[in-house]
Amino acid sequence: MTQLQRIAIAPSQFQQEQILLTKEQQHYLVRVLRLREGDRFIAMDGKGKWWLAQLETEQAQILEPLTITTELPVTITLLAALPKGNGFDEVVRCCTELGVAKIAPVLSDRTLLNPSPQKLERWRRIAAEAAEQSERSFVPTILEPVAFSSAITAGVADHRYICEARGEYPHLKDVIHPVSTEILIATGPEGGWTEKEIESAIAAGFQAVSLGRRILRAVTAPVVALSIITVACEV
Ligand code: SAH
Repeated sequence: MTQLQRIAIAPSQFQQEQILLTKEQQHYLVRVLRLREGDRFIAMDGKGKWWLAQLETEQAQILEPLTITTELPVTITLLAALPKGNGFDEVVRCCTELGVAKIAPVLSDRTLLNPSPQKLERWRRIAAEAAEQSERSFVPTILEPVAFSSAITAGVADHRYICEARGEYPHLKDVIHPVSTEILIATGPEGGWTEKEIESAIAAGFQAVSLGRRILRAVTAPVVALSIITVACEV
């Protein structure tokens, strides 16, 4: 198993053995993921095909196709506000089993704690163990804890959802796009998101969604959201 980063590439960007990267993808690979020239990453076409690629300046070289059977055809990034106690352990374990690609622990208005570096190490260990037990090809990336305001403006996902327990929002199952390549989904802390957070997420291009009529715990909501997405996207 490897920790290589994955990125979705549109069919028009493939030119023989090269991938022409957009400015946004170059920024993402170099500034956000901190890859350097010569580093490897996974290029996905969003339809289940994967390639090992090597970063060059404005393009990438395709090295070889990869055979993947246990990964989802879509890259899911979970932005989960940190719950109390050790609740995040369970979020990491279950969402890894379900196929998540990246998890960002989010510090929201109603999150009290800022986790220690030891916690981050622990979550990464849990992700590795869970990926192994689920026979996944990749270990999800557990990102450094990030403030909500930065989390909602980062990334290249074409579909972004924020789960809100109250209000008249459409159900995630009814809005999910089955041929998405990158999905970003956010779930809140025990106390829920503040109104301001929901508003700023919507302003940043997120769609507010419901996960059903019952109020789920902060630990349960990501698991339910991931389950709905996998059912919609996996063929
Ligand atoms: N205490 C809050 C609920 C928080 S639940 C309240 O009473 O309103 C924790 C998080 O789980 C929420 O912020 C939301 O992101 C998610 N969640 C829980 N139940 C949900 C539901 N039915 N639909 C959508 N999101 C839900």
